[in-house]
Order: sequence, then C-alpha cells, then structure tokens
Amino acid sequence: MIQSLIGLRTTPHGGRSLFAIQPIAEGTSIFTCEAPFAHVIYKDYRREVCAQCFAYAASTFRSIGDPRTWSIKSCRVTAETVWFCTDECKVTWESGVIGPLIADINALLGKAKIATRRNSARDGYDSILPNGPPAQITQDYIDKAWADVEELVSSRARLSSYCSMMNLEDMELEISRSVASAIVQRYVFDHRLASLATSSIIPTSDPWTEVLDLQSSELSNVSLRPYILAAHLRVYAFLCHSLPKHLRLYVPTARHILARDTGNAFGIWDGDHRDEMLGWGIWVSASYFNHSCCPNVKKTRVGRTMHFTTSRSVEIGEELCISYIDTSQAIAQRRQDLENSWFFKCGCQRCQSEEPNGASPH
Ligand SMILES: [Zn+2]
Ligand SMILES: [Zn+2]
Repeated sequence: MIQSLIGLRTTPHGGRSLFAIQPIAEGTSIFTCEAPFAHVIYKDYRREVCAQCFAYAASTFRSIGDPRTWSIKSCRVTAETVWFCTDECKVTWESGVIGPLIADINALLGKAKIATRRNSARDGYDSILPNGPPAQITQDYIDKAWADVEELVSSRARLSSYCSMMNLEDMELEISRSVASAIVQRYVFDHRLASLATSSIIPTSDPWTEVLDLQSSELSNVSLRPYILAAHLRVYAFLCHSLPKHLRLYVPTARHILARDTGNAFGIWDGDHRDEMLGWGIWVSASYFNHSCCPNVKKTRVGRTMHFTTSRSVEIGEELCISYIDTSQAIAQRRQDLENSWFFKCGCQRCQSEEPNGASPH
C-alpha cells in the first residue's frame, strides 16, 4: 500500500474501505497484491494456462492461430503435471515452495476423485444432507449441517465409507483444489517454509488473519443457492479424507474459505477482453476496495500480481473503488450480477442517476 496516498477507514455503513488521503493523479499505481491466497485454474485450461504467471496460450498464439497448449512442463513424480509459458516461469515456479506443494496436493485430489467416481454407481446418492433445504434458510440450519459433517469426519471409518460412495462433481473438485491451495499457503506460512526459497513471496503479515477479516457471505450465498451447502459439505468431507495428515489439521480452514469465496474471489480472465474465465482466485487485500459502477481505480492482473491504478484523478477524501463486474452492462444486469455474486444492491452514483424514473428508493 502506498501509505502516503491511501488509507483504510471504516465507512458509515460499518465496512472498511480505502480512501485517498491526498489528491491522486490519474494513472497512479496505488496498491499491489502480490499473489492470490487461494486460486484454481479450471481443468480444461490447465495445459493452456501457465502455472506460474497464468498466461493463456490461446491469447498469446491468437495471431498465429496455432497451438493452444504450452509445451514446457514440470513432471515431478508426486505432483500433477503443470505447464509453463517460458523456461523462466518454470524455474521460478520450481524454485518456490508453494507451487510444487499445491501440485503435489492436486495430484492426490485428482486420484481420489477418480476413485470416488468409479465407486459412485448410485448417482445422486448423498447422505450428507438427506433432507431438502427448509423454506427459510437460517444460520442455525447451516451451523447444524456443519456440526453434522464434523461428526461424520471425526470417525475415519465412517468418513471412508461416506467418501467411497460420494458423487463429487467436477466443479466441487475445482472448489476443493482452490481450498487446498489456501490450506497449503497456511501450512507454508505457519512453518515459514517460504523463507527457504528466495523466489517465494513471503507475506509479512499473517495472511490467514486477513482472510478471516473478509466478510463472510455464507448465509446470503446458501439462502440464494441452497444446493451450495451440500456441495461445500462434500468438499469438506473430501478434503478431510484425501489430504495428507500434516495438512488435515488445517481443514477447518475450509469452511472459512468457502464462506468467503463467493463475494471475495475474482475471475482469472484471459485478458482485458474477458472472453474466457480460466479460473478464480482470492487476492485478499483486493477486497478492501469497494465496488462502484463508475470506479476511479482499475485493477489489472500482471502474472499473479494484482495492480491497482487510478483511472482518473481523485480528490482528497474520495473513496477508492474498483468494479467487480462488467460495467458496460445496463443497470438491471449490473444489479443482478452484483446481487448474485456479491450480495448487495449497488447504490453508487451511476446507479442512482440511472435508476428508472418512479422506482422506489429501496
Ligand atoms: Zn508464465
Ligand atoms: Zn452501481
């Protein structure tokens, strides 16, 4: 954070937000977030997206119209194969701690998923939430479901039996990978393994505390999409079952990540055109920026790092906002996108001025 330019303050609505503490010229770099705390690249894109810098082969080769996959790969015995755009990216990734550890874990999860799939002849079988959701989702209902899954995983025998019949969907495996990447980061930070590798990014503050500071959208998310609760419980049971012992200690992390994933994650796109979403990630401190449909800050991903730059001149005391959505859309679509994924109704200046005439103010 550029301390002399911007400051974190509590807003009148109770949240936190970044404000300009000096006038800031257009095009000023005000903030960077080095790397995502949790991330996943979708299975279909893994050969096409550099594991180190997330460069997308199809955009790079678009002019040639030829290969869509990268040719440089890392094939460690215990790990999933990952692909790179350049030898430099490969060297950076291999000399770090976090990337290879995540690839090890992803190999484990991939194998476990194949096993569960093979055994799940009874499609749709699921005892994790045997009754459908109630008409009104409450926090008590969610807490009870989590208490039940805690009970289930406390017995290795019952957990194995449950997982052998589990029908984990592809998207749930992607979610599991994203959560596992966060668990690896926590493990590495706790053991300070990062200090052994010069090219790893060593966070100076405890990133986990920062994650817990993010707003939980658990109740809003489950209320809007009741099926997501069963999916999250399956992910939890799957991770408890599949992760190696030294990481299992951190599995309770999963509920906190899952509660903050929607509402704090940003898509990893193929470029500024946002044609294809390659995966998603949580850049923790990026969530300090509130949303506006007429933002004064632009976020740009360069490799793993998220950069925040003023898109116009900003006056002292002005709130610094990015856009969470595609702002070229009309107000109705913008509101729908924000309510679906970010759980709030936008009241920014632009939305106020575009509000259809005669609409009630609430
Ligand atoms: Zn790369
Ligand atoms: Zn708005």
